Amino acid sequence: MGRVSNEAFAAAKKHLVGGVNSPVRAFGAVGGVPVFAQRGAGPYLYDIEGKQYVDYLLSWGPLIWGHAHPTIIASVMEAAQNGTSFGLPTVLETQMAALVCELVPSVELVRMVNSGTEATMSALRLARAYTGRDYIVKFEGCYHGHADSFLVKAGSGVATLGLPDSPGVPRGATETTLTAPYNDLNAVKELFLTRGEQIAAVIVEPVAGNMGCVLPKDEFLSGLRTLTQDYGALLIMDEVMTGFRVALGGGQERFNIHPDLTTMGKVIGGGLPVGAYGGRRQIMQRIAPEGTVYQAGTLSGNPLAMAAGLAALQMLKDGGKALYERLEFYGKQLVETFIAAGTKRGIPVFGHAIGGMFGLFFHEGPVFNYTQTSSANRKFYTLFFQSLLSQGVMLAPSQLESGFVSVVHGPAELAKTQEAIEGAMAIID
Ligand SMILES: *Cc1c(COP(=O)(O)O)cnc(C)c1O
Repeated sequence: MGRVSNEAFAAAKKHLVGGVNSPVRAFGAVGGVPVFAQRGAGPYLYDIEGKQYVDYLLSWGPLIWGHAHPTIIASVMEAAQNGTSFGLPTVLETQMAALVCELVPSVELVRMVNSGTEATMSALRLARAYTGRDYIVKFEGCYHGHADSFLVKAGSGVATLGLPDSPGVPRGATETTLTAPYNDLNAVKELFLTRGEQIAAVIVEPVAGNMGCVLPKDEFLSGLRTLTQDYGALLIMDEVMTGFRVALGGGQERFNIHPDLTTMGKVIGGGLPVGAYGGRRQIMQRIAPEGTVYQAGTLSGNPLAMAAGLAALQMLKDGGKALYERLEFYGKQLVETFIAAGTKRGIPVFGHAIGGMFGLFFHEGPVFNYTQTSSANRKFYTLFFQSLLSQGVMLAPSQLESGFVSVVHGPAELAKTQEAIEGAMAIID
């Protein structure tokens, strides 16, 4: 990075904690000064030094339509002209809710919130209230936002900082949080054997995206579905990342497993701050004002956010299956190039791609849980990341994050990236 970025980061650090508003933006895992964004257009990001990047960070997932998509921008501008917030119901919210329930197979009733964190913490409260139980099961390396109960073996951001659990989280908040390795159904069975009657819910990312991108093995998700049903616990699919990204109806459509509750975020907001949780009517009705489980939000269902989300989801619906096939084809090409370029030079490499998500690992052989992803070679990733960055390709600044493809990434961007991957591998070799 040049002088302009260095100065911007120094100035940022004066009054912002660490110069950032979310820790992973500080580039701690790869070193150096973070890229300061100036603007984006389609698949491209421009930093404050005027340098252009093919963007695979995509705001950490939301931008499935790339930057500043004209339809989304027009929709937001139109909404803004009528006022930015009312604190009263709007018709936009009804339209958004109807579309979400239409697209996400298991969702009958939905509540809009402002972030993924809010969605998961609210879904957890609901699951506990509905079942009258306190324990939850989460998976090592899965991230469900920063609510206290979930900050146990929580993957990327936390792991990158080397914080196993965050200080400030009372023991009481996490002592009812049980963990198991991702893709390890037997470990979950053991937890149910000892505590089955006390477990309110199992929460899972249907494709893990916060330990790098890791696919579920066959029978893992269906096993969780059966097990939770057998014990009267709820299955919560955290689709904050996978929702509208691995398929139109998210991971649950892709793998045909219907959870009791679903949490959403990222893509659902079209680039504005939106989260949502929803599920079976009978469960969701327990939330106030229909029920007694309290959850509220001054800006929830915000008209600008609804306008952006609606535009994004409507276009995804219009694009249909073909759109997701195109995203996945692109991601697979990237992974194949990465693996071929690494293998040719004897560098250990592995990768996953599904829908608009992909993961690149400097690790020999299959990577299916956090123990494996976190033992991937970090020095290689740093070299790889910095080389791609200097060649105008922006990946996530940690190997333990997913990469994202947008609908507006095309053959020119793919070719440029493939060339950059070859160049980066030559440096590592
Ligand atoms: C990003 C993410 C969250 C948290 O969402 P925020 O909007 O950052 O609060 C929760 N769960 C998963 C699976 C995520 O990827």
